[in-house]
Amino acid sequence: MPIARVALDLPLFRLFDYRVADDPALTVGVRLLLPFGKREKIGVLVELATTSKIAPEQLKEAIRIEDDLPPLPPEFFRLCEFAAKYYQAPLGEAIHQALPPALKKPRASIRRTVKKREVATQQPVKPLLTSEQAHAVGLIADACGFQTFLLYGVTGSGKTEVYLCLIENMLAEGRQVLLLAPEINLTPQLETRIQTRFPDIPLVMLHSGLTEAAREKAWRAAFLGEARIVVGTRLSVFTPMPDLGLIIVDEEHDLSYKQQEGMRYSARDLAIYRARLGKIPIVLGSATPSLETWAHARHGRYRLVTLLERAVSSARLPVVRMLDTRKVRLEEGLCPSLVEALRIRLQKGEQSLIFLNRRGYAPVLACPACAWISHCSRCAANLVVHLEDKRLRCHHCALEVLVPLACPTCGNRDIQPFGRGTQRVEAALAAQFPAARVFRVDRDSARSRKQWEAILARVHAGEVDILVGTQMLAKGHDFPRLTLVGVVGADSALFAADWRAPERLFAQLMQVSGRAGRAELPGEVLIQSEYPDHALYRALAAHDYAEYAKVLLEERRQAGFPPYVYQAMLRAEAPRMEAALAFLRDAVARANARDYPGLAIFDAVPMRLSRLMNMERAQLLIESPSRAELQAFLASWREVLETLPQRGRLRWHLEVDPLEV
Ligand code: ADP
Ligand code: ZN
Ligand code: ZN
Repeated sequence: MPIARVALDLPLFRLFDYRVADDPALTVGVRLLLPFGKREKIGVLVELATTSKIAPEQLKEAIRIEDDLPPLPPEFFRLCEFAAKYYQAPLGEAIHQALPPALKKPRASIRRTVKKREVATQQPVKPLLTSEQAHAVGLIADACGFQTFLLYGVTGSGKTEVYLCLIENMLAEGRQVLLLAPEINLTPQLETRIQTRFPDIPLVMLHSGLTEAAREKAWRAAFLGEARIVVGTRLSVFTPMPDLGLIIVDEEHDLSYKQQEGMRYSARDLAIYRARLGKIPIVLGSATPSLETWAHARHGRYRLVTLLERAVSSARLPVVRMLDTRKVRLEEGLCPSLVEALRIRLQKGEQSLIFLNRRGYAPVLACPACAWISHCSRCAANLVVHLEDKRLRCHHCALEVLVPLACPTCGNRDIQPFGRGTQRVEAALAAQFPAARVFRVDRDSARSRKQWEAILARVHAGEVDILVGTQMLAKGHDFPRLTLVGVVGADSALFAADWRAPERLFAQLMQVSGRAGRAELPGEVLIQSEYPDHALYRALAAHDYAEYAKVLLEERRQAGFPPYVYQAMLRAEAPRMEAALAFLRDAVARANARDYPGLAIFDAVPMRLSRLMNMERAQLLIESPSRAELQAFLASWREVLETLPQRGRLRWHLEVDPLEV
C-alpha cells in the first residue's frame, strides 16, 4: 500500500502520513478524506511515498479520495511552498488558507459549471485611448515573460481603461486574467465595468463576502478554466488558473492586500512571485504607490509606466486649498469658509463631500466633573459614542453598551461627547443646511453591499447634496456632479506613532481629492489644518506624489526604515502583560543572533493597542538590511520558538514585512 504524505490544516510544521489504497486517481494534488483523532479531516496529498518513519501498524488509512476535481497543479504547490517559507507558516496552513472553505470540508461535491451571467446593459463602448494610455498598453503588451510594471497614474487618468485593453489582448490570446482589487464587495462598479466591456466572457468574483457555495463555484470555474476573468480580493491570489496570462493588482498600495490572521501574507507580493513562477507580466496600478513599490520602480526593478493626464480632456485636477484652522473660529469643527463653499455648491445644485476618517458621533464620552471617560473593559481603547442608536461601541472588539444617562462614577448628568466623528458632522450639517439632503457613508450606514449600492444610486440620481464619509468614499467612485471635497481632522495622522501614517494619509487624501471634478465641472478641495505648510499638504496641493515620495523615502533612508531595511515582528499575547513580555524576552535569549551580523533585535515592548479582548499584547522587532539574512535567521529562530514552553493562554506569531507597527 502506498503512503500518502498529506498537508492538514493545523498550525504544525509537519506533514502527516497515511496508508492509502492504490488507485489510478491517486496523485499529488488530490484531496483525501482522513481519519484524524475522533473526527474526519480533509488533507491535501503533497507527496506519495513507499516508506514512512511511523511504524506500519500505527499508520491510519485514508478513507477515500475526496475529489471530483483535477489534482491541484504543481504551480499551486510552488506558490504555497514559497508563501509558507517566506512567511514562516506551516505548509498545511498555507495550502488550506489558499483553498475555498467548502473544499476543506468532507462532502462529496457535485461538479457544476458557471452559467454566463446575464448583464442587462448596452453594447460595450470602447473609448479611443489617449496617447498616454496607448503608450502604456503598448509597453505592457510587449512584455514577454515575467516582468513587473508599475502603472502610476493620477486619479482619473484612465488606469482602468488600460487594464481593460490589456485584458482584451489576453482574452484574444486565449489566456485568463487575474485582477486583484481591494474591497470589491464595496466597489461594484469595477465588476460592472469589466462585465459590460466583455459581455460574453465568463467572469467570476472571489471575495469573503460570498457564501461558501458561491465561492467554491467561482473558484472551480477559475480552476477549470471556464471563467476567463477572475476579479478578487487578496484571497484570490492563490486560485489556480490553467491559462493565466496576466495579473493586475489595482490600488497596489492598499492595506487590504495584507492578510492579518493565520499566515500573514501580502497578496501583492505573492502575486509578483506568482507571475514570476508563471513567467507572465504583472501590472501594479496606483495613483499613490506604496513606497516599497515606488523605490523598486525608481531603481529599475519594476518598469515604470506613467499616466500624468486625466483621461477625460475636460476634467482638470481639482484645486487644493488649505484652510488654516488656527486663524478662525470653528463652528462644530468646520471653518466658516468651508461652510460658505458648501452653501455655494448647494445654490448651484452641485454635490459636496466632507471627508473625516472617523466613524461614530464622537471618539469618547467624558465626565467634566470627575474625569471619567468611556473605556472599553476589554481593550486598551475608548468606547466610541454612537448617538444614532444610543450606544457606546468599541471599534476593536465590538463591545457595546447603552449610553449612560449619568456618569457611572460620580452621577453627574452632564456627561459629554468629546471630539467628532462622521455622525456629529452629519448632524451639524443637517442643522446648518436644513433644506440640504445630507448623507453619511461609513461602515455603520453602509453595512452591506446592497445598502452601499443604494447610496451610490442616490448620489448618481442627484438625490444627495452633501456626503459625509470615511475612506469608504475615497475609492474609485465617479460622481460627475461632485465639485467640492472638504477634509476635516486629517492632522492627527501627521504626527502619529505609526511612522507609516503620513504615507497612508497622503494616499487617502489624494484618492478622496480625486473624487472632485471628474467630469466637466471643475473641482475644489479644501483641507482644514493647523499645519497648512506641512510638506504633505504642499505636495498634495501640487498633485505631486513623486515629490512627497522623495521626501518620505529620504526620511526612511536616514532613519533606517523600510524599504531600506527588512523587518519582521514577533508578537505574543497573554492574559497578563508580564507573561507576554517574558515569552518575548525568552525568545530573544534563545536567538542565535551572532551568526547574523546585519541583524538587529529590538526590545520587547507592549503594542500600541496593548490590550485587545482581554489579552495583553507585546511585540518585538527584528530587522536586517538583507532580506536573505532576515529569512535565514527567522527560519532557524522559528524552530527554536516552536520548542519554547508556553504557559497559560499564551499565543504568539511571527509577521514578516509587517505594515503596522
Ligand atoms: P482611474 O482608474 O485612473 O482613476 P478610470 O479608468 O476610472 O481612471 O477613468 C476615469 C474616467 O475617464 C472614467 O470615467 C473613464 O470612463 C474615462 N476614460 C478613461 N479613458 C478614457 C478615454 N481614453 N477617453 C475618454 N474617457 C476615458
Ligand atoms: Zn463623573
Ligand atoms: Zn474593546
